[in-house]
Amino acid sequence: MGLAKLSDLVTNVGEYVYKPAEQCFYCAEPLGGDVWIFWNGTDGQIWLHPACAKRLADNLNKDWERFKVVCPELL
Ligand SMILES: [Zn+2]
Repeated sequence: MGLAKLSDLVTNVGEYVYKPAEQCFYCAEPLGGDVWIFWNGTDGQIWLHPACAKRLADNLNKDWERFKVVCPELL
């Protein structure tokens, strides 16, 4: 997971080193602004608004807490 700033992704000739997604992975709204969170997965990257990254992380943690209670034998 990383924090990406537009200035980190654009070369001095205006080309992207790698281009952010058009939409946020979590909320599907356009990725405006110039700071994002990204995550490298096994088959690609996801890009999020910073606030959406927090929401996704919190929801994943809630899922994990439920999983620990429902399926402790699988841990
Ligand atoms: Zn978002």
